[in-house]
Amino acid sequence: MQNQLLKFEASESFTKDADAQDSLKHFRENFYIPKQSNGKDAIYLTGNSLGLQPKTTRAYIEQELKDWETFGVEGHTKAKNPWMPYHEFLTEQMARVVGAKPPETVVMNSLTVNLHLLLVSFYRPTAKRHKIVIEAGAFPSDQYAVASQIKFHGFDVENSLIELKPRESETCLRTEDIEKTIAENGESIALILLGGVNYYTGQAFDMRRIAEIGHKVGAVVGFDLAHAAGNLELYLHDWNVDFAAWCSYKYLNSGPGGVAGCFVHERHSENFDLPRFAGWWGHDKETRFLMNSEFVPIKGAEGWQLSNPPIFQMAALKASLDIFEEAGMRTLREKSKKLTGYLEFLLGEIHDEHISVITPSNPSERGCQLSIRVQNANKDLFKAISRRGVVADWREPDVIRVAPVPLYNSFADVHKFAQILKNCLA
Ligand SMILES: *Cc1c(COP(=O)(O)O)cnc(C)c1O
Repeated sequence: MQNQLLKFEASESFTKDADAQDSLKHFRENFYIPKQSNGKDAIYLTGNSLGLQPKTTRAYIEQELKDWETFGVEGHTKAKNPWMPYHEFLTEQMARVVGAKPPETVVMNSLTVNLHLLLVSFYRPTAKRHKIVIEAGAFPSDQYAVASQIKFHGFDVENSLIELKPRESETCLRTEDIEKTIAENGESIALILLGGVNYYTGQAFDMRRIAEIGHKVGAVVGFDLAHAAGNLELYLHDWNVDFAAWCSYKYLNSGPGGVAGCFVHERHSENFDLPRFAGWWGHDKETRFLMNSEFVPIKGAEGWQLSNPPIFQMAALKASLDIFEEAGMRTLREKSKKLTGYLEFLLGEIHDEHISVITPSNPSERGCQLSIRVQNANKDLFKAISRRGVVADWREPDVIRVAPVPLYNSFADVHKFAQILKNCLA
């Protein structure tokens, strides 16, 4: 956000000052920045796709390798960070990232797996109430998951899936239109599942409001926070969201295939009548090793766990969560608004009709990502900026996504990117 201290200018001297005044600037040193072939740092703007590696990650994983080497199976209890309760070491920090209470939060599996597990419990269609509301153009994995759940219950996608579409000639959804669709379909809606931030447009939804209007018609409201966790300030508990799932390898820097997050609101924590797909790690900890045949779920989100967790992936996530803990989501978000505001300002200064930003210009309706629509779907522009050291991504049919991440991107990165883009357009 532009403020008196920070009157944006398209100059290197401005970026120097802005970076010097940035209270989070030292965090960049905690990450490995990929290099270009000329040895210079790449201009890495894809933390929304795969976050960078914290320099501490290796030591966290090596600790577990070492304890495995030393203790073998006894590492479950004797490791420095005993593997038996290992996932618990991540719970509080992860809960803070998404604004949840610790018992509402668990780190487990991967994102799409968690969505399915949560849908098993929270999508219980009846002849009258069977519809699921999603964004048109939701991330494919979410579309597949939802469609397969509808079919699994014997319904058909044509009648049971509602896709929220933007108005003609608009690219983002209006809350009032979401509200209208929900009101119109009323009690036929079983579930609303939206992205916290749409992966394509970068639009952040008003999750509190959507939870409220969904509950008004008696629907369950869940969010996929793949592009929101570690990006926005979230208050899942206070917003009364029923459930949520998110991956940790995007903004949360846990590495490829990192272990995912899961939120279940506390009002469901002791609802053991909910159907669920069970596994031994969700079983009451006191009696888990009695190996009884009757499943007794743990209260809260932990009760949705299936398997004993992947310790090396968890270690990598712990390294990153320790950094988030130190930086704090509020401070990160403050910088993020400035950084993305600066990017938007510089894109505006380019004045070229070949590009337009489709992400909302209101900072409260977006995270750090801006999606740049390229006229005539000209992918050559993307190839040209890539050759010049920019790591961004191209999303079919016609968008370049760029996400300056407050933990490791600088105002200088944003300025260099805008310069390169301008030169490539010229
Ligand atoms: C990244 C992303 C996924 C990926 O799912 P995985 O199960 O982690 O492979 C799913 N949904 C959304 C909205 C995403 O942004």
